[in-house]
Amino acid sequence: THDIHIIGGGLAGSEAAWQLAQRGFKVRLSEMRGGGDMTPAHQTDGLAELVCSNSFRSDDDEKNAVGLLHYEMRALDSLVMRAGEAARVPAGSAMAVDRDIFSKGVQRALEDHPNVTVVRERIDSLPSSGLTIVATGPLTAQALAESIVGATGQDRLAFFDAIAPIVHRESIDMDICWIQSRWNKRTEASNEDGDYINCPMTKEQYRAFHQGLLDGEKTEFREWETDTPYFEGCMPIEVMAARGVETLRFGPMKPVGLDNPRDTTPEFPQGRWPHAVVQLRQDNSLGTLWNMVGFQTKLKYGAQVELFRTIPGLENAEFARLGGLHRNTFLNSPTLLDRQLRLKSAPHIRFAGQVTGCEGYVESSAVGLMVGLMAASELAGRDWTPPPRTTAMGALLSHITGDAEAETYQPMNINFGLFPPLHEVGKKQRKEAYTGRAKTDLARWLAEAALEPA
Ligand code: FAD
Repeated sequence: THDIHIIGGGLAGSEAAWQLAQRGFKVRLSEMRGGGDMTPAHQTDGLAELVCSNSFRSDDDEKNAVGLLHYEMRALDSLVMRAGEAARVPAGSAMAVDRDIFSKGVQRALEDHPNVTVVRERIDSLPSSGLTIVATGPLTAQALAESIVGATGQDRLAFFDAIAPIVHRESIDMDICWIQSRWNKRTEASNEDGDYINCPMTKEQYRAFHQGLLDGEKTEFREWETDTPYFEGCMPIEVMAARGVETLRFGPMKPVGLDNPRDTTPEFPQGRWPHAVVQLRQDNSLGTLWNMVGFQTKLKYGAQVELFRTIPGLENAEFARLGGLHRNTFLNSPTLLDRQLRLKSAPHIRFAGQVTGCEGYVESSAVGLMVGLMAASELAGRDWTPPPRTTAMGALLSHITGDAEAETYQPMNINFGLFPPLHEVGKKQRKEAYTGRAKTDLARWLAEAALEPA
């Protein structure tokens, strides 16, 4: 017997389970991987598997909205942040993790928890009764997706998400590439000489590469409509390339702040910036795997290998994983869910994670955390006080539950545009003003909201 059933042991489901279990509630956590099912992007049976990048993005809680979200989640003893900290790998000012250590950390914490029962099973329809959290993510299995569509009376379209290739470190030619973080930025987790492997390109090489992206054979669309939009943060490199010859040089191939030590002049003794650059970021704590930053793609596998081996330093690259393209499923939450993320037509069911229309590992986990708190309040018979709108969690929640336009609802990363504006503060101080206000308001909320069991 359990107090609550959580469907989906990804980032959001794991975090929600932890928050409930820590407050004394019995959780049944159903995860289909490990029970004979898989999604098109996951590769293991592990709970909270990271399917693409290994980065939780910026860890700067003074100037960055996602860094602020890290801070707020830590203040609520987030399992994702806890396990993330223990699995950290160097990544400049970002927080990146070894995906295996991370997933194992989350899984161990839940499997060892006396209040959590992890069951490896696929759930095919929304339960007709009993408190439930659906956290089945962007790749929700088909039967359950149909059951959700049935319960909502809507068919919200899916959109495309793409994943980036991963390269074996030993196959990268370090006589051509060099290690450096842009502008030499670093954190405590940083390597001494920098956190990124940089592959330099001349103008001619860049132009040829750009043309190769446009000409390369792409995967055909099958189950999706051709006019499904891309999410900006995960746009395939070739789609970005098609926007103009210079677009990539202002995006993932930006060369500024990267001094090529093999191209020195008396004027630039540290080395000149190349015309364009391909960056790789460490993907596991061993440092054996590196992912191509921003290189999510829907080029065919053969075309990827051929084209990416024209990148200087990657001539002999061996790929641990090639890029790919996947479906994303999300609800029109502003119309379908109430302020506590309950299905209006069946309020015993809450949704959490990316399926609510947030976007990103951290955001999905944060929504899982909040939904865990909401359910815990309900189980304890207490009123739920949402986090203030001025906090990152509150801003994200407000966006999902009503601030966003229902008509044009699109998954969204946390950003300062979701916060109540501070026009009176000068532009230069504004980010610190947002985060400062958030921290003050978070502290007040934590003191007053009665989140712990009486
Ligand atoms: P998930 O972590 O996917 O968890 C859902 C879980 O539910 C899975 O374990 C799944 O097996 C399980 N499940 C599904 N259906 C059922 C069922 N019927 N019964 C039982 N279990 C079920 N975000 C980033 O920040 N960075 C990235 O690089 C990034 N890349 C992405 C790449 C792809 C291909 C996709 C699809 C998404 C990507 N995202 C990325 C977005 C998003 O942050 C992640 O998908 C994130 O894992 C979402 O968390 P979640 O908990 O909502 O879903």
